[in-house]
Parts: sequence; structure tokens; C-alpha cells
Amino acid sequence: MVKKDLFLGVDTGGTGVKYVVTDQDGSVMTSGEVPTDPASIAVSMQRLGAAVADTLGGKSGFPRLAGLGMACAGIVNSATGQLGRSPNLPGWQGRNLPRDIGTVFHKIPVALANDVNGALYGEFRQGAGRNCRNLVMVALGTGVGGGVIIDSKLVVGAHFGAGEIGHMNLDPAGPSCTCGGRGCLEAWAGSTGLLRRAREAAVEGKADDELARLVARRGELLNTLDLAELASSGDAVATEIFAEAGRRLGQAIGNIVNLLDPDRVIVGGGVAQAGELILKPCRETVPGLVLAKESKNVPVVSAELGPLAAAVGAACLAREMGIPG
Ligand SMILES: [Zn+2]
Repeated sequence: MVKKDLFLGVDTGGTGVKYVVTDQDGSVMTSGEVPTDPASIAVSMQRLGAAVADTLGGKSGFPRLAGLGMACAGIVNSATGQLGRSPNLPGWQGRNLPRDIGTVFHKIPVALANDVNGALYGEFRQGAGRNCRNLVMVALGTGVGGGVIIDSKLVVGAHFGAGEIGHMNLDPAGPSCTCGGRGCLEAWAGSTGLLRRAREAAVEGKADDELARLVARRGELLNTLDLAELASSGDAVATEIFAEAGRRLGQAIGNIVNLLDPDRVIVGGGVAQAGELILKPCRETVPGLVLAKESKNVPVVSAELGPLAAAVGAACLAREMGIPG
């Protein structure tokens, strides 16, 4: 009898399927990535199966997997296993994920979560949220996602849609958001909104401003790291764009702290690599909005696990769903 001593954690996004193989303590033994086929879960699973077989010394290594966790972009119904709305994975929508996963990984129990909840769970078990029972995560990417853990359990909501922190409305007269609304957190703190504000500022400013030169030089390739570099070199306009995003993030977090009183708030995602440019104004904003004296200085910290967070979290979820092993 093969010892079931490993867990496979998978994080599926629109371009890549990242995976980790962990031991029973959740430590990552190996990791990798294969390209996603957004039109076909079957093709994507075959690619994943081949890559995992390579790392385990062939398919004969699969029986060592005690469980598989998958974090997936979109609305994940962890009760039925069905993937709901998922704009980046059009061919996966409506599919029963455990069934499709099972065609490659036979008879291995499957745990599911959406991608932000996967990342939050990874931070909860192995990263910035260790030793906490109540956590909130805000993921600042192209858009802004979020997740909530209360009493050590992920909160998914009545329709598996909980945690949409990015569309918390902060100002009905604010900038337009990708959702069609106005003044959502995402419109300030997601990279799409941040870069749009940078381009607007470049147009409003003088043509020889540093920001205008950066926007002209980088064109469509402009990203938040370019902007963070300019801010770090002392550019006041770029610094203010991050500061405004940070204050708006602080406003959203202040509201969340009043509602949930978490032990800690974790800020992750690509935009969060701007670090203190966003976190400092955010931390300065939170206390003024929080009612309970004990909660005013809730730690707002950077995520620790980086791009593998959701895959690690998925592996931990698989480990904890009561799989014999
Ligand atoms: Zn919105």
C-alpha cells in the first residue's frame, strides 16, 4: 500500500495553472506552472497531469496524493463543485471541477476555493496570517479582490460571492469602475484604475514632467512597478497617486474592521508591491474610521507568500477536509 503523504495545490488563472506539491505540514516540496487553455479544462488538466507526473516520477506517483486542492478564478460553488461566472476561463464556466479533475487524477479527493480565498487560506496557514483566527485579505491586482476568515473558516456567503471588497462603494461620485458603478475601491486601488489616473495626470501636467515622460515612453506597457519606481525616486505626482489609493484602501479597511473586527488585515497582489507607498497612507487612515478603541490599530500587513499563495492555500484546504491519509 502506497503511503498517501502528499498534497497537490493548484491555482488556475486565465494564463497559467500553477501547482505545488506539499508534505503533510504544508511545506512546498516542488512547484511549477503549465499554460492554461481557457477554452478547455480537459486540455489544461492533461497538461497539469503530465507536469505533476514528471515531478512524482511518473503517474505511478499519483497514489501518493492524499488530496488535491484547486483555487480557481471565478465564482466557485464549493458545495456542488461547479464553476460559475469566470470571465478569464470561458470554457470552464458551468463545468463540474472535481469531475473534470478526476479524469486525470483518478479517485483523489478534491477541495475547491476561488483564487483569492485560496491565497488568503495560504497566508492563514503558512504566511502573514499565521496564529490568527479572524482575517481579511485585500488583493490589489488588475482588479481588487478580497476574502474573509472568521473563527478559522473561510466565509463564502449564500451564493459563493462573499469578499467582493473591490466593489465596496466609497464615493458614489467617484471615478468609474469596471463594474459599471462609480467610486468603488477598485477604481482607485486596482492597477487599471491606478494607471488610468497616472495617464490622466500626465495629460493634465506639463509635457516635460517626469510622469508625462514615463507615460509617453512606456505607452501601453506602463505598469504599477514603473509608477512605484518613479514615486520612490521622489516624484510628487506619482507618490500622490499611490497615497490616494492607500487612503481609499484605508477607508475600505476601516469599514471592514467596524463590521468584522479581524485580528489582522493582509494586503497582497501585484499593486501591493508598491509597499509603503500604499500601506503607510492606508494605515494612517484606518484608525480615524474605526469605532472600537481596541481595533483602531489593527495590523495592516503585506502578504508573505507571493505568487504561490493560492496554490499553497489550496493544498492546505485539501489537507484539512478530513482526508484519510
Ligand atoms: Zn466596481
